[in-house]
Amino acid sequence: MFDITPDNPFNIRNHSLCANDEPVPFVRSPNQSAAFAPRGIILHDTAGRLDKGNAVNWFLRPEAKASAHLTVERDGSVTQQVAFNRCAWHAGKSSYKGQRGVNLFAFGIEMVNLGKCNKLRDGSIQPWFKGDYRDGTDGLHFAFAATRAHGKGWWLDYTAAQIRTVSAICQALIGKYDLSFIAGHWEITPGRKIDPNPLFPLDALRGALLGETEKAGGPTLLADANLRRWPSYADNVIRVLKKGTSLDIIRTGSYKPLGQSEIWHLVAVGDQQGWINGALVDPD
Ligand SMILES: [Zn+2]
Repeated sequence: MFDITPDNPFNIRNHSLCANDEPVPFVRSPNQSAAFAPRGIILHDTAGRLDKGNAVNWFLRPEAKASAHLTVERDGSVTQQVAFNRCAWHAGKSSYKGQRGVNLFAFGIEMVNLGKCNKLRDGSIQPWFKGDYRDGTDGLHFAFAATRAHGKGWWLDYTAAQIRTVSAICQALIGKYDLSFIAGHWEITPGRKIDPNPLFPLDALRGALLGETEKAGGPTLLADANLRRWPSYADNVIRVLKKGTSLDIIRTGSYKPLGQSEIWHLVAVGDQQGWINGALVDPD
């Protein structure tokens, strides 16, 4: 699906994206800050109208308090709004493998998409801002999908041009800045965000560009484990988590519930937080 070819049209010069050696349109967002040390990429949906420039214009407004390095339109064209040596504001409250504040170390790429939609009885498909979209009209294709992270919904397909552009840009960024991960917004904000939608081929993209088959989302449980309200063996179990559950570690500490020092992790699972004994967690 993703051809890694030497004729990638994208490259990076002076922290700007170039296509065929010409800078792509750069429309500066005021919503940015200085400290930035990139290690990865976070992919997003705009969850808004599909008109070209709509998302880019929103990121121009100070009251949006949001931005992305790049926005990729339905036709595959791309606009840059924050230079690659500056921090864009796309992730919000977030953590990747235990490290909080993902904006500080990840590029943000927005893909124009409607976000989660409902299908009404008359066959129309409605995003959160209403409107009347129909499967098969205006070149739009929707599919029903349900995942644990996203819930049930009708989702707008990404265009081939969008996927091609995003893939090639990720390849260029990874090469230039020696990045180690690509993650969806939903993976770094468990229970809070659901973008990109389930139709985006995230695992295939990671497999092609990073040689990974594992999902992002951090370490997993080696055995069934009690999620606890605080790091002790008191009567404080929130619920039992199954072996293999993927954890998002928020904080790690050393505690002595039985007199001897033990490592415990504060973790987020879905929309819950609690403590897990460190011996039950596979570090990778
Ligand atoms: Zn997002």
